[in-house]
Amino acid sequence: MIIVMDKDATPEQLQAVIAWVEGQGYRTHLSQGEERTIVGVVGNDRPLDHNQVERMAGVERTVRILAPYKLASLDMQPEPTLVPLNGLKIGDKQVALIAGPCSVESREQILEAAHAVKEAGATALRGGAFKPRTSPYSFQGLGLAGLELLAEAREQTGLPVVTEVMAPEQVSLVAQYADVLQVGARNMQNYNLLRAVGSTNHPVLLKRGMMSTMEELLMSAEYILSCGNPSVMLCERGIRTFETYTRNTFDVNAIPALKARTHLPVLADPSHGTGHWEYVESVALAAVAAGADGLLIEVHPHPEQALSDGLQSLKPERFADLVKRLRAVAEAIGRSL
Ligand code: PEP
Ligand code: MN
Repeated sequence: MIIVMDKDATPEQLQAVIAWVEGQGYRTHLSQGEERTIVGVVGNDRPLDHNQVERMAGVERTVRILAPYKLASLDMQPEPTLVPLNGLKIGDKQVALIAGPCSVESREQILEAAHAVKEAGATALRGGAFKPRTSPYSFQGLGLAGLELLAEAREQTGLPVVTEVMAPEQVSLVAQYADVLQVGARNMQNYNLLRAVGSTNHPVLLKRGMMSTMEELLMSAEYILSCGNPSVMLCERGIRTFETYTRNTFDVNAIPALKARTHLPVLADPSHGTGHWEYVESVALAAVAAGADGLLIEVHPHPEQALSDGLQSLKPERFADLVKRLRAVAEAIGRSL
C-alpha cells in the first residue's frame, strides 16, 4: 500500500503517520516528489487497515499496490531513480555507455581496452574478474588480480568500474574495487547474493536471467531494494528461445515494458543479447531507440584472442564508430550520449 499525503500536510503529520505504520509492524519507504509525499508501506503480509490510515490528519488517500513487487513499482515512486556514477546520473537524459572486455585477461589487455573505450566516449569500464562459465574447464577469471587491474585501469582513465560478483562471501572484496556490482544472469535468483549486494551502498547492475520473466527480474530487484540499497539498474541481456542463429534472443520489449512498471533505470546488453559482433551494433541502436538508459557492450582489443566471448566482442575501432551512431539516435529521441 502507498499512503498519499495531502499537498499541505505538515512534517509532524507525516512523522505521526510513519510512526503509526511502523508501530503496526510494517516498514515505510518515503518518496518526496515535487508535488506529493508518498509513504510506501511494505514488509507484512497482513494488509493494513486503510480506513484507519485515511482517518489520520494529513493523509489524502491510500492506494493498494497490486504488483507483487512494491519498492520497485512506479506507484511507490513515480519519479525515475537516478543512479549516481562518477558524475553521471544513470536514468537521466544521458544514456550511459559501459564498455570493455568480457573478462580481465592481462594488464596489457585491460589497459588497452580501458583507454580505447574511454577515448571513444564510454562512461564506465566493464570487465569480469570472477567469471560464471558454463564449463569448469573454461577460463574462470583472474580473481583478485583482475580486480587490482581494474582498479589500475580506473586510475589511469578515470572510468568507474563495473564488475561481476558471484557469491555473497565475495561481495565485500569486490566492493573494495568496483564502483558497480554486477549480478549476472545466472545469479539473478541467488537470493543470498541479492541480499548481500542489497546490504552495500554500491550501485547494483542486475541482469535478467536467461529464462526469467520481467516480473521475476523485478522481484529480484525488490530483494535488493528491500535490504536498503536504492541504487539498482536492470539489464536486459537476451533470453533463451528456440532460435539458434543468435546466442540469446534480445528482448527489446523488456525496455518499454519494464519502464512502464518501474522507476529503476533499464540498461541493455546487445553483446550477450545477440552473441555475434556483427549484430551488436543494430541491436544497440534499437535499444537506445526503445528507451534504454544505458548500454553494456563488450569491446576487446583483439577479439580473436579473447579468453571469453570473443565472438560477440567489438574491436575498439568499430566501437568508436558505433558510439557516433548511438549519439545520433539518442539525440533523435531527445536524449544525449
Ligand atoms: C557478462 O556480462 O560477461 C556476463 C557473464 O553476462 P550474463 O550474466 O548476462 O551472461
Ligand atoms: Mn561476457
